Amino acid sequence: MTALPPGATIGILGGGQLGRMLALAAAPLGLKCHIYSDVHGPACDVAAASTIAPYEDTAAIRAFASAVDVITYEFENVPLEAAAAAEAIKPVRPGPKALAVAQDRLEEKTFIRGIGIPVAPFAAVDSEASCADAVRIIGDAGILKTRRLGYDGKGQVRVKSGADLPAAFSALKGAPSVFEGLVPFAYEVSVLVVRSVAGDIRFYDIPLNTHKDGILDTSTVPSPLPAHHAARAQDIAGAIATALGYVGVLGVELFYLPDAAEPLVVNEIAPRVHNSGHWTMDACLCSQFGNHIRAVAGWPLGPTDRHSDVTMTNLIGADVNAWEQFAAEPDTAVHLYGKPEARPGRKMGHINRLKPRR
Ligand code: AMP
Repeated sequence: MTALPPGATIGILGGGQLGRMLALAAAPLGLKCHIYSDVHGPACDVAAASTIAPYEDTAAIRAFASAVDVITYEFENVPLEAAAAAEAIKPVRPGPKALAVAQDRLEEKTFIRGIGIPVAPFAAVDSEASCADAVRIIGDAGILKTRRLGYDGKGQVRVKSGADLPAAFSALKGAPSVFEGLVPFAYEVSVLVVRSVAGDIRFYDIPLNTHKDGILDTSTVPSPLPAHHAARAQDIAGAIATALGYVGVLGVELFYLPDAAEPLVVNEIAPRVHNSGHWTMDACLCSQFGNHIRAVAGWPLGPTDRHSDVTMTNLIGADVNAWEQFAAEPDTAVHLYGKPEARPGRKMGHINRLKPRR
């Protein structure tokens, strides 16, 4: 496909803050965005058009697909049927394969391990009877995670003793799950990789990520990850993107274990722009959002070079109430998502605190 010309419209499945920042990044390229969401979300406020309808409404998905030139998504739980209905009419990028793999932790881990990349030891748990097998494979301590619909630490239970696994399984309401061995990591990093329609690949610098209450708190670049391990982490992310035939930005979360035989272990992948890449909005010439738009529109990729050091801090719940103070800080870029209510645990915005590059 040739590049979509300015004036063309990108359809985005999902109306959250990621869709909002994608639409904002499309505007300077002269591209319009049409949001499809089941509720009026923050993306709708900045897009040229919105469709508010359930993802299961195939007629509405078809009408949306007919009205746009290419389709992408901003959350990984887009129902596969919706993506398939859209794809019958217009290209969906990244393709439905990435969606299918990322929606199911068992598929995801099996796929990643299958291409020779280390993941935490894991075993499927889909019945009380399978708990004993899982403990035999993984050992006593681990984390039970639902295969589907988990995010920000939701749908997970820490298990200290194998005897507690059946209780953890019923705490997750018997949802098909994966029991994962605990990875004794020193810290967590992520790779933001972008791949074009032509298969070109570029990487952003790797951030160090910290979490609070299971939610990303900060992403800092540069990270202390040694250069040869950073190169290996990028190779891993590139291999995953290529194996998926991926188009767009892919987030790959990794655990770092400096002294292990395999120092980099993939935790999970996100087939979309990623919270740990929000710093690119102010520290790079072309942000992850700009590059995702370029990739799905068939454009050449933009530069991923970083001109500043930066720490991104998420504003969760009431954190956002200090917006005026953040706005008065020098060298701080404020990004607010325009959500009406600062509920606990809700991502309300983020700030990027910049320093000249070391
Ligand atoms: P997840 O939803 O899978 O990203 O997990 C949320 C957080 O829990 C991760 O960012 C880690 O801090 C922690 N975690 C998840 N899986 C493991 C594991 N296998 N070993 C140690 N910590 C983990």
